[in-house]
Amino acid sequence: MVVGAGLAGLRCALALHEGGYDVTVLEAADAVGGRIRTDVVDGFRADRGFQLLNPAYPALAGCVDVDALHLQSFAAGVTALTDDGPRRLAHPLREPRLVPTTLATGVRRPGELAAVARWLRPLLTPRPRRTLSQVLDGRTQRSRAEALDRAGVDGLLRRVLDRFLAGVLLEDGGSTADDYAQVLVWMFAKGVPGLPRDGMQALPEQLAARLAGRVRTGAPVEAVDGTTVHAGGTAHAARAVVVATGGPEAAGLVGVPAPVTKGVVTTWWAADDAPRTGGLLHVDGRTRVGGPVVNCAVVSDAAPSYAPRGRRLLQASALLGPDRVPTEADVRRHTSELLGVPLAEAARWEVLVRHEVPHALPAQPAPYTATKPVDLGDGRFVCGDHRDTGSIQGALVSGRRTAAAVAARLG
Ligand SMILES: Cc1cc2nc3c(=O)[nH]c(=O)nc-3n(C[C@H](O)[C@H](O)[C@H](O)COP(=O)(O)OP(=O)(O)OC[C@H]3O[C@@H](n4cnc5c(N)ncnc54)[C@H](O)[C@@H]3O)c2cc1C
Repeated sequence: MVVGAGLAGLRCALALHEGGYDVTVLEAADAVGGRIRTDVVDGFRADRGFQLLNPAYPALAGCVDVDALHLQSFAAGVTALTDDGPRRLAHPLREPRLVPTTLATGVRRPGELAAVARWLRPLLTPRPRRTLSQVLDGRTQRSRAEALDRAGVDGLLRRVLDRFLAGVLLEDGGSTADDYAQVLVWMFAKGVPGLPRDGMQALPEQLAARLAGRVRTGAPVEAVDGTTVHAGGTAHAARAVVVATGGPEAAGLVGVPAPVTKGVVTTWWAADDAPRTGGLLHVDGRTRVGGPVVNCAVVSDAAPSYAPRGRRLLQASALLGPDRVPTEADVRRHTSELLGVPLAEAARWEVLVRHEVPHALPAQPAPYTATKPVDLGDGRFVCGDHRDTGSIQGALVSGRRTAAAVAARLG
């Protein structure tokens, strides 16, 4: 029995099903996907919190047919609003040919780029017979802010990197383990992230389709008592129970420590007119950041299927916390600055939906232990991104790892 049909629960159930086990998945919500859901509003697709699928994630292999998702790629790099105006900055690992352009357009001192190279040295050094995690394991555990300081990364590149990573890691204090930040940068160098033609929810739906008839939605689990699951007034006895909910719910159901989580709010707007952005994310690289937005984009430039023909879809994401709830007006004003749109014009953007996701990601501060135990004993297991890394990759790895642990127990 698997509780929760997010990516981790679905991946776990699929591996067990393929291993010949009889699996049922109980999901509280009205559809599968967990944190990966897509709303269709007036013909626009709005994911519940802006996120991207990186086709380079190794855990996709063997369970996801990426081609069938028809990914629509974002461009590699970002457009940063600098103190001197907007500048396009290429990803130094993905587009090394554009490094001179990057230097010419926004970075005043070549030393800034050398410092970034110092920070990324473990990734840039040839690694015969060593995996990336082996390279990173050999290093001292530091937060990303400490690691960037030590490497001497400053100036515009530091501001852009900090702002870009704030949008990916959902923290702007630099507290995330540097090793994890490096892995992410490596992933962005290996694959160009994008959005599936039918929305991000197409990803979990693809896994669920292979579990036909075994996933019950609208079935919230109230309690897990040994290997008996209580849902809707019925007690379901099982040989093993996998709690694949988010971290906070798992804490309630099986008593694992609740992870500290990080939140984000994404606002989606429809517009008749918006600048052509070439499918790039926009970030604020100014010395004084002008508002709460960590990234924004004209999403339909990269993913035309997200908007009806002739219309444009914009998103802006900002960090969300108990003392930090950005207003829509502030987010709109900051986005208009980042995209270079006069506020009078931005005032015409129509809010489609605003998604507040308070538990979007588990915090991953240094020291970094990516792999947490999943076997709680007595036939109970726990899986989800909070057991591995807070990402699509982490959720899939966790599901597969937990299925292996269940199989080892049940034989
Ligand atoms: C806004 C946002 C942006 C993100 N951006 C990215 C990105 O760009 N790249 C990336 O790799 N990752 C990103 N992530 C992270 C990624 O989406 C998650 O790590 C992953 O989806 C987590 O999957 P999961 O299965 O572990 O948990 P969840 O998706 O949370 O699944 C848990 C499931 O359990 C169900 N459940 C909870 N309680 C019960 C109960 N009592 N009974 C039954 N069911 C229950 C829930 O309804 C849910 O369906 C982002 C996440 C968010 C929210």
